[in-house]
Amino acid sequence: MIRDPRKAAVIAIGDELLEGRHADTNSGMISRRLADLGIEVVEFRVIGDDRARLAAAFYELCEKYPMVFASGGLGPTLDDVTREAAADAAGVKLVRDESVVAELREWFARRKRDFPESNVRQAEFPDGAQVMRNHNGTAPGFRTWIGGGVLAVLPGPPRECETMLERELLPWISATCGHGECFARASFHLVGLAESAFGDRAGDWMDRSANPRMGVTAHQGTLRVSLRARAGTQAGAEALIAARAEAFRERFAAELFSEDEPRLAFVLGRELIRRKLTLTTAESCTGGLVAELLTEVPGISAVFREGFVTYSNEAKTARLGVARELLERHGAVSCEVVEAMARGAAAATGARLAIAVSGIAGPDGGTAEKPVGLVCFGLSVDGVVTSRETRFPPVDRATVRLFAANAALELLWRALPD
Ligand code: ATP
Ligand code: MG
Repeated sequence: MIRDPRKAAVIAIGDELLEGRHADTNSGMISRRLADLGIEVVEFRVIGDDRARLAAAFYELCEKYPMVFASGGLGPTLDDVTREAAADAAGVKLVRDESVVAELREWFARRKRDFPESNVRQAEFPDGAQVMRNHNGTAPGFRTWIGGGVLAVLPGPPRECETMLERELLPWISATCGHGECFARASFHLVGLAESAFGDRAGDWMDRSANPRMGVTAHQGTLRVSLRARAGTQAGAEALIAARAEAFRERFAAELFSEDEPRLAFVLGRELIRRKLTLTTAESCTGGLVAELLTEVPGISAVFREGFVTYSNEAKTARLGVARELLERHGAVSCEVVEAMARGAAAATGARLAIAVSGIAGPDGGTAEKPVGLVCFGLSVDGVVTSRETRFPPVDRATVRLFAANAALELLWRALPD
């Protein structure tokens, strides 16, 4: 079988994944990292902790692809059978690596814990395999040849999996599987644009065969765009990226908030800190989510004054001075009320910026006039108060709240005084 040297398969291993108790995040992470090396993952599998099924899949996929990646099932207990299955598929025995046993004993000794003898299993590998160190845990990984393909097995816990991939596996792949092609990449983070609208404006940049190739994923109201170019030389690949990046920045100037940091809250928070712009939040339907996202940013205490969670009408009146008559006349979800909330929060804290959010997160509480998903935002910038309302798709409550919190961040970001 002629195999494309740049294609690979990824296997997620574990009963808990099949039973739906746990989601497979490792495979996507592996795939993204491989893409940076120009390796395209063309198949995912999820397989339970079943020795025979795993061995059959390892064998089959190593026939089809030059590289197969797997995560999970390396634990010390008997229900983890990945190493046995790999040995079966390679047609070799498991052998114990005494230097790994010594390292495991030392790992436990350093933590002043008894060494459970069952852990010795973690020092067994298919004969001839290359061991990969685990920098965050006990289970080492390994690489073994099965027919003409190489199977690389990583631990299940995501942090261990990612670190081993990064430090033990990717360097080996780069060093041994160079394929004469060079790659360069860039990324962009946009806000205030739906994926479909992005596609329209990106046009043929999104063609599957374009070089650089463009990918886009939506993430809580932001879009993550990646560019990947391939060429015969590194300089060639970088030149392709540079040209497209320049055009991209121009076309999406109004939506582009970052080229490295994917979190809008961090971009915004760092800007507020840099410019010494004080801020307060007045939240109803988001219940403090805007404050939560912003206070994730280290150092934000320099500018973040106070966050109000004024859920009831009484609280809006008592804490923010929203007139009762305003609430009665327009309802809590109205531009009038969010403007009063923003004004009140700014007055109470002396902050230069105030953002207020009030909406209907659902599932109940919607009316024909004010449906689930309707959210009003009030903004006060140095005493100038504005508002707007947005109708988010009436998905589930958690998503409406997240959309609303991110839209609040977007408003603040766009309102940053020059
Ligand atoms: P351990 O030594 O911790 O047992 P392991 O390599 O045997 O490591 P598993 O027992 O398969 O790994 O999984 C341990 C934990 O890692 C799981 O409970 C789960 O939380 C997480 N995990 C496993 N596989 C995945 C995956 N594909 N995606 C995300 N998390 C995973
Ligand atoms: Mg397991």
